[in-house]
Amino acid sequence: MNPFGYVRAADAAHAIQLGADARSKFLGGGTNLVDLMRETIERPATLVDVTGLGAAIEEREDGGLVIGAAVRNTALAEHRAVRTRFPVLSRAILSGASGQIRNMATVGGNILQRTRCVYFYDDAARCNKRSPGTGCDAIDGFNRQHAILGGSADCIATHPSDMCVALAALDAVVHLRHANGERTLPLADLHRLPGDRPDLETRLEPGELIVAVELRALPPAARSTYRKVRDRSSYAFALVSVAAVLELDGGAIKHVGLALGGVGTKPWRALEAEQALVGRPATPASFRAAIEAELVSAEPRSGNAFKVELAKRTVVAVLGELAGEKR
Ligand code: SF4
Repeated sequence: MNPFGYVRAADAAHAIQLGADARSKFLGGGTNLVDLMRETIERPATLVDVTGLGAAIEEREDGGLVIGAAVRNTALAEHRAVRTRFPVLSRAILSGASGQIRNMATVGGNILQRTRCVYFYDDAARCNKRSPGTGCDAIDGFNRQHAILGGSADCIATHPSDMCVALAALDAVVHLRHANGERTLPLADLHRLPGDRPDLETRLEPGELIVAVELRALPPAARSTYRKVRDRSSYAFALVSVAAVLELDGGAIKHVGLALGGVGTKPWRALEAEQALVGRPATPASFRAAIEAELVSAEPRSGNAFKVELAKRTVVAVLGELAGEKR
């Protein structure tokens, strides 16, 4: 690990002032960043600790939530309002990492965590994300865990977060603060596709700070859940995961939020499938047709073609569970 400085930010303005130095990094729980520093993939001159900023969950009168960026993953998953009104989010968080890591990890850090592509962490490998212009050893290498959606000729790494998949299905909005003010971005737009610059992972401006995530209230009749398919039952990243929110009107689909994990280079909001589902009967045939429309653009590689059918079956199962659930 390289030498670095440490400063605990007094407030958001102080953090943004310190973060304006391109050699600084904001520090949340450190559960990914510190690993990257140990491997010398990240080499910040200064860590700006933002864990003291925004550690509250505000409940709005309409049933929505504003979640501070420093809220720990465990606190969010166990919050009464999240468990009862947004179970998809609670289940997604609890399916990720280990209890110890969830106790440390923050909402902001979870959103900004980096891929777990094995070549990214191996400095003997070619990796355009770590060292732009060097190539990508995953494309013709061991790519069982890699993306089938949103990849490019330069990178096919998946985004590893479970929480972000649920946030995408919930149409979450991220609140950002910078030196000249504030702005918001839909979570689904915050992460970039790799294109020819896989080293650029988000639409954040340099030094911009995530301060909160906002969830709008779901309709009372909406149901939501998260299912994660992986090689072992805990402490493993998704091969395929599905976050879904479903509201029915009679037997027809009135509203659906659908997002996929483990298959995309970013948390994958399945907009094609959502459009195909609204107004359709809530049947396995509708679910299958919708996810097939979404996956028309899938580009499987030598080791991950199984994800196409796995994603289809998981979506059909999850939507079927929500449609058939007795209230
Ligand atoms: Fe690097 Fe992306 Fe290729 Fe992995 S998939 S080796 S992160 S460029």
